[in-house]
Amino acid sequence: MKNLVSDLMITGGCGFIGSNLIRHCLMEGIRVVNLDKLAYAGNRSSLFDLEEDPDYIFIKGDICDSELVGSVLADNQPSAILHLAAESHVDRSIDSPEEFIQTNIVGTFRLLSAALEYYNDLDMTGKGQFRFLHVSTDEVFGSLGPEGHFKESTPYDPRSPYSASKASSDHLVRAFHHTYGLPVLVTNCSNNYGPYQFPEKLIPLVINSAIRGKDLPLYGDGMNIRDWLYVEDHCEALRLVLEKGLPGQTYNIGGNSEKTNIEIVRTICRILDELCPRKDGKSYEDQITFVKDRPGHDRRYAIDPSKISSELGWKPENTFDSGIRRTVEWYLENQQWVENVLSGKYRMERLGSLKGGKRV
Ligand code: NAD
Repeated sequence: MKNLVSDLMITGGCGFIGSNLIRHCLMEGIRVVNLDKLAYAGNRSSLFDLEEDPDYIFIKGDICDSELVGSVLADNQPSAILHLAAESHVDRSIDSPEEFIQTNIVGTFRLLSAALEYYNDLDMTGKGQFRFLHVSTDEVFGSLGPEGHFKESTPYDPRSPYSASKASSDHLVRAFHHTYGLPVLVTNCSNNYGPYQFPEKLIPLVINSAIRGKDLPLYGDGMNIRDWLYVEDHCEALRLVLEKGLPGQTYNIGGNSEKTNIEIVRTICRILDELCPRKDGKSYEDQITFVKDRPGHDRRYAIDPSKISSELGWKPENTFDSGIRRTVEWYLENQQWVENVLSGKYRMERLGSLKGGKRV
């Protein structure tokens, strides 16, 4: 079982989940080749300390480049591909959907085609071991009312260009299994948080804006609900799915940790009040402001993780309280990483407020 995951190709390994996953794999003694084009959210600096590790190879490249992907596979002979490369920010998908179609749909298709060619050339043992694990999101299922949870059988109902592009890639991955016999696995995970997340996403945005004395903007009434999972627990789930999951199957991953956005922001403010109090003695909660809602903002997501827990024995180790504290502490201790990332294109501007092609 162990050698099933001895050599991996990870796409998008310089992003948030990818960089945590690479650390997790190297700790487990797994060799990793990381193919990442270093789009705005990809930070090679998240893994600089690992670049001397003989078990880690970084290749800068685009998953849309079939020739490059084919040669990376031929040169490195991985026993599995973990596909994380994506355009991942909903607000950006509202402003500029085209890049989401290109990377998430066309890129996934090209990667699948190269993987199939590579798979077909493997011997019987190699074929038996090979897996293509596609890392997807719960956003493909659409929005829930106050009750119920997303199951693996929940019909797809994506609402944003991001979730529509991920839904499309999920379908392509499954089509390559049913049509060509590629041994694929699909995971649909809830919102992740933790170290190395690009500071445009809610949790790092709130932490970094708060300590810079900026407003903490909440969309709409702040009552939208997401189901939060500490990124290390997601990484462990992915490793388990790779080792024990059945080809062709889908596994939902979630932390049973539903929170409204306002609860998240208030919790972060309280932890900051304790760890890094404001000089004027007031609470960071005073910086909260409410802004016009995101167009098409889904109200509630919640994952039913009973399949992965009963079939593969996975459960998250971190509660939201422990994970969020670790996350706030990490950002406070790693402000240089934040500064490096922010000195790039991203400047904490508001995204995703376009209507009919015009910013509102
Ligand atoms: P991220 O935006 O932090 O990282 C994406 C990475 O992909 C970046 O390093 C980027 O440079 C790379 N990339 C983008 N386009 C590429 C291309 N064409 N070729 C090669 N590399 C490319 O994203 P993340 O939050 O780490 O998410 C990783 C995956 O997990 C995505 O597929 C996302 O849909 C999925 N997911 C994320 C969450 C979450 O809460 N963050 C939850 C569920 C699923």
